[in-house]
Amino acid sequence: MEQTYAIGIDIGGTNTDIGLVRSDGTCIARTNLPTQSYSDIEAYADDVADVIRKILSDNGINEIVGVGIGAPNGNYYTGTIDYAPNLPFKGRIFLQELIRSRMDTKVVLTNDANAAAFGEKIYGGARGLTDFILITLGTGVGSGIFVNGQMVYGHDGFAGELGHAILYPDGRACSCGRSGCLEAYASARGIVQTYKELCQENGIAAPADITCRDITQRADSGDELAIDTWRRTALCLGIALSNAVTFSSPQAIFLMGGPVKAGHWLLDPLKQYFDEYLLTIFKGKADIRRSELPENDAAVLGAAALVYE
Ligand SMILES: [Zn+2]
Repeated sequence: MEQTYAIGIDIGGTNTDIGLVRSDGTCIARTNLPTQSYSDIEAYADDVADVIRKILSDNGINEIVGVGIGAPNGNYYTGTIDYAPNLPFKGRIFLQELIRSRMDTKVVLTNDANAAAFGEKIYGGARGLTDFILITLGTGVGSGIFVNGQMVYGHDGFAGELGHAILYPDGRACSCGRSGCLEAYASARGIVQTYKELCQENGIAAPADITCRDITQRADSGDELAIDTWRRTALCLGIALSNAVTFSSPQAIFLMGGPVKAGHWLLDPLKQYFDEYLLTIFKGKADIRRSELPENDAAVLGAAALVYE
């Protein structure tokens, strides 16, 4: 099969990663711009377009299928980034149009978790699946949901916020301003908070700057509180995912992001809780799997995949 090419742009608060992706899912070149150093969106769009032209000419590519953009609060319907708290651009940004006017190619924009789900569908483990959910565990908890072969956007473009499904109405404060969301427990910050709380309850001092990776290392060395942290995280995720299955009946649920590197400490209890809480008619029909996208390129691959919809 002849290869085609797409540009994937992953916009984060610190960096904007821009990659050239071949249709077999290989990111053949990538570079980045410091998002934080821009306050003027026109200057930012100019530089993004310049970087794309340079990547294409450096690699001898004359034709691309399009440019895909994954961004926090990206809206597929309007091609806008709406009030993203971590970006220097304030208000509503018409980025799709700003890039299209400079590139004269197809430009697709959506939120970062939806882009990741597209990446899994086009290049990763969800190839050939029509119904699946992708969960990103990181600073927050994001999700992208495919039903009947199509991404679920909802009437306003913001569907698929499983990270803000409330598990405990009187629970921890969440970044969204409410309490007890999945994100408050299963994001990297939530997992660290669980470990610190367990340490405090047991009169043990936990290092202030401890990370999920450290908690995994501690679990590996037999730290019961670290093992219990992953089990509690698995409980929250297991409840949320078994509830999600009642809504969309996926064939598989993919997990992506740093905390997934806890491996069996997270995945074994998660599969157990998920199965325990699953409605009988769904038992044995949906597996929990790790994302098959290479970790470092996952966000860029996801953004590039958008152009193949
Ligand atoms: Zn929330």
